[in-house]
Amino acid sequence: TRFVSGRTPTTNAEAFERALLVTPGGVNSPVRAFRSVGGTPVFLASGRGPYVTDVEGTEYVDLVGQWGPALLGHAHPSVIAAAHAAVDRGLGFGAASTGEVELAELVLDRLTLGEGHAERRAIEKLRLVSTGTEATMTAIRLARGATGRPLLVKFAGHYHGHSDALLSEAGSGIATLGIPGSAGITPETAAQTVVIPYNDEAALAAVFAAHGDRIAAVITEAAAANMGVVPPKPGFNRLLADTAHAHGALLISDEVMTGFRSTAAGWWGLEEREGMPYDADLTTFGKIIGGGLPLAGLGGRAELLDLLAPLGPVYQAGTLSGNPVAVATGAAMLRGAGPEVYEHLRRAARAIGDGLSAALAAEGVEHIVAWAGSQFSIFFRADAPQNYAEAQDQATWRFGPYFHAMLEHGVSLPPSVYEAWFVSAAHDDAAIDRVLAAARPAARAAAAA
Ligand code: PMP
Repeated sequence: TRFVSGRTPTTNAEAFERALLVTPGGVNSPVRAFRSVGGTPVFLASGRGPYVTDVEGTEYVDLVGQWGPALLGHAHPSVIAAAHAAVDRGLGFGAASTGEVELAELVLDRLTLGEGHAERRAIEKLRLVSTGTEATMTAIRLARGATGRPLLVKFAGHYHGHSDALLSEAGSGIATLGIPGSAGITPETAAQTVVIPYNDEAALAAVFAAHGDRIAAVITEAAAANMGVVPPKPGFNRLLADTAHAHGALLISDEVMTGFRSTAAGWWGLEEREGMPYDADLTTFGKIIGGGLPLAGLGGRAELLDLLAPLGPVYQAGTLSGNPVAVATGAAMLRGAGPEVYEHLRRAARAIGDGLSAALAAEGVEHIVAWAGSQFSIFFRADAPQNYAEAQDQATWRFGPYFHAMLEHGVSLPPSVYEAWFVSAAHDDAAIDRVLAAARPAARAAAAA
């Protein structure tokens, strides 16, 4: 029992010191470590509404939002009540339960377009899994199983979880750590993924001209947000669908981050303008549909989804899949996310993004705020990037000092220049004002860097 002290750490420094002894890098997901911004990560003890509190009792306005799920804010009463009620009935059964059906119905209903679109409801069935990684991994296996083809096309700077096929030139932690991919993936596996630049029509045409009859699928973030926010050029998602379909390949729209936040059913209207996700053959969801607990899913036309076991030859399974507590919190989250939530998100995000931008401008810091619906991030460069190379071409060194000044003034940002920022329905005027109060000192820190 050498490691067990019997005492919970009460400072961030002590927590990190102890974590480093028992956990690689002191964290269970690399983006939580302050590798690119330096310093000691804060260890959070609780969250409520727009705020989180660390083990030292310091409260922050939170713009991480659990990396997406906290759409209604932390510990929203209806979500917590649903979780409690589910917990009281048992933590899981490893057998079918009705909550799974109800969550699938809720998700599919929300993705049904209005009048005149009903017959184009491309998402007919949903398989629930536990993480976004599993959802995209399964979508790829399904695409290969359906087409009998080997290759996958992905975009540089897009992140789809950490399965072998998807780590080449990925965004998120791979971008933050500045590495091209991961060790431990065989060259044979890596060769099955062709990586091309985002928003690049010529590269897309070229890859299909060269390998068209061997491509099983193109996978894309519906609006890229793992290299900072880089939305698709108008018409690009539509082009992806049309190009894939012209060659007998499938389009996988990864909506793990954007789904029910900014694109699919997020009332941003991207699906109307871009044919997303309705012209995608497979769509992956996560984060919000689990309400903050481990839950994700993949959906598509019945004929495709029915290729999964037990009906079809594509195998996929999970002990914890469709966990009753997770489906209950997910359902409560979706029930609470009406149009007014999205309207609030949009206004709160604009107020914060515009305020931070004004402060940076006042300090003479070159920057641009990039938007996809209510999701945004700041790039320290003059114009909005269209791809990963441009996203990397910025004054990245300004971010560490900016981040720490924000933290010192009570605002918690994602600890990487390559991550999107998240607001919630709970970010009220008081929380927004606290962020704006931190804007000027943070801008000064960025200017001095
Ligand atoms: N796809 C996208 C677009 C994501 O942003 C993420 C995670 N941020 C994933 C997939 C992976 O999800 P998870 O971390 O739940 O495995």
